[in-house]
Amino acid sequence: MMSNDNIITMQIALPPDAAGFIGFECPSCHRYFKVVAATFTGSAEVNCTYCGHEDESEKFLTEAEVDYLKRVGAGNAIEQLHGQFQDMLVDTFRNSSNVKVTRKQHSSPTAPTRPNERELPQQNTCSKCALVYAFDSEAKICPQCSTPVVQANL
Ligand SMILES: [Zn+2]
Ligand SMILES: [Zn+2]
Repeated sequence: MMSNDNIITMQIALPPDAAGFIGFECPSCHRYFKVVAATFTGSAEVNCTYCGHEDESEKFLTEAEVDYLKRVGAGNAIEQLHGQFQDMLVDTFRNSSNVKVTRKQHSSPTAPTRPNERELPQQNTCSKCALVYAFDSEAKICPQCSTPVVQANL
């Protein structure tokens, strides 16, 4: 990680899981779906694919994602404090001939593991915005552009 004085206030972006998915849980109906991060534009508003509830994307974070972000945030905060403490020591003893303080390049705290999203039986590619998303059985609209889902008739 680059040294950055604003590290505590930076936005923490949620990375996709190993399969490239980001999970969403509707704050209204509490049902779960996931989207392929590479096809998601990162829009601030997301629609629930099941009930159509529209809200800020942060409101759709799953419990596992919130937990992950907390652990990442805590790690960054600790690293920031550690860096500030070293800066302070270096400043304090800069002109001292008796004490020599060198900044130790400490390794970053081990990054918490990104939890994998749950398996879902159905997957759809939106005909309008090309979002790829997975859901269980009754998706109604695209989470990104709210285009109605065309159910495939087999
Ligand atoms: Zn919903
Ligand atoms: Zn769409």
